[in-house]
Amino acid sequence: MAVATKLQADVVVAGSGPGGATVARELARQGKRVLLLERGIDQRAHSYYGTYAGALIYSDHRSLLFTQEGLNIIRPLMVGGATSMYCGCAAVPPDWLKGKYGVDIDTEVSETVEELQIAPLPPELRGRASTRVAEAAQALGYDWQPQLKFMSPMRTRRFSCGAKCMLGCRCGAKWSAAEYVDEAVAAGARLLTRATVERVLVEGGHAVGVAGLLAGRPFSVTAGTVVLAAGGIGTPRILQASGFADAGQGMTMDVTSMVYGFVKERGAGNEPPMTWSWEDRETGFMLSTLIDPWLLYPIITALKGWRYPLYWPRWNNILGVMIKLKDDVSGGVFRDGKISKPLTAHDRPRLQMAENLSRQILCKAGAEPADMFMTPLRGTHPSGTVRIGTMLNSDLRTETPGLYVCDASVFPEALARPTVLTIIGLGKRLARHLASN
Ligand SMILES: Cc1cc2nc3c(=O)[nH]c(=O)nc-3n(C[C@H](O)[C@H](O)[C@H](O)COP(=O)(O)OP(=O)(O)OC[C@H]3O[C@@H](n4cnc5c(N)ncnc54)[C@H](O)[C@@H]3O)c2cc1C
Repeated sequence: MAVATKLQADVVVAGSGPGGATVARELARQGKRVLLLERGIDQRAHSYYGTYAGALIYSDHRSLLFTQEGLNIIRPLMVGGATSMYCGCAAVPPDWLKGKYGVDIDTEVSETVEELQIAPLPPELRGRASTRVAEAAQALGYDWQPQLKFMSPMRTRRFSCGAKCMLGCRCGAKWSAAEYVDEAVAAGARLLTRATVERVLVEGGHAVGVAGLLAGRPFSVTAGTVVLAAGGIGTPRILQASGFADAGQGMTMDVTSMVYGFVKERGAGNEPPMTWSWEDRETGFMLSTLIDPWLLYPIITALKGWRYPLYWPRWNNILGVMIKLKDDVSGGVFRDGKISKPLTAHDRPRLQMAENLSRQILCKAGAEPADMFMTPLRGTHPSGTVRIGTMLNSDLRTETPGLYVCDASVFPEALARPTVLTIIGLGKRLARHLASN
């Protein structure tokens, strides 16, 4: 049997998405010995980064991960986590996070907005088709607004942010958490890739480290503080293997679908994703502009039925409205590896309302009602699997001293909006809490 590698740190962080990268960066800057463990590798320098081949290489199950109900989940496993393939949207945290759960991250979020210069894209880069959809919605009385972005033409000399940036950003316009990882390392943190954390080590009721596999060989880390940031699916799995039976019971997903319509004019497909958005807070859904990348379109629509990929030649004539539903907590991430996300009786009519409104908007924008269709549901934000108020206190601590969680799994309810700014805010707040203790 191979001898386990033994490592030591003040703080060990599992997962390098926005949650883990933020905590690692902040604590390293404060002089803590931080060890950041990531099961994937840094893919940014590879020639396939940001291509369709790349999306097959670095996403769990080659991008074909499904819940038992058939929702497709894209789960990038690499340095930077899902921000490597996200749409670069930013949204301030919902009011209820502070009002109902006592988690105030206003200062941390404002600081991040300033630091990363989060703002909408300039009008000329929001896309003609996307702007046409937003104007149609506005004409119907819905106050669609330019979406805040972690993306700026100022970050690059060659802004070319079409729909393909969801495969990984090649032009450099989009911020990803991998940049915070770089800054953590520059501040003294140690990053180990191909390091899969399997379980938390607990002694005398206290978390004392983690154990797992480093490039396939056993390793363990002794640390005074353990932060799990392996994402809405990864974190509950580590906790389950460590004896926390409640982890992964119930989840939220911001269940997502696209409603598509077609117009005569060409040029819609290559626009940056999600440049305009609107929220119905009362009903609980968000609408935004989005079209699936060219090669993903036939794959995704084939899940709906054989005739839908036949619209592929008209991909460049699509207008798209994306729905994100504030879904109830349901289903979960289970020990046998299965993931379930059923819609509840409360979810279904609200999704129907969102679809009806999307069709109305597309119609107003000039799309033919006869051609319109809604794609199968998908899950872009696996979250709410280790919830604040259920398994965590408002400082993100578990019932085991020394063991914290900081990623999308902590959301007590579905956000139904972009998650990353909230996760960064939580990461900064947790780092401050840990430093002051
Ligand atoms: C296609 C797509 C578009 C999106 N668009 C947006 C958007 O525009 N705006 C927005 O705010 N959000 C967006 N999101 C969602 C957002 O990217 C995620 O919610 C967010 O990245 C979650 O952060 P996290 O820290 O919880 O986990 P993740 O980003 O999932 O990171 C977790 C990390 O942990 C690693 N890991 C997992 N298990 C282990 C283990 N056992 N040991 C060690 N490491 C492990 C993973 O490899 C991964 O790197 C999008 C998501 C997708 C898929």
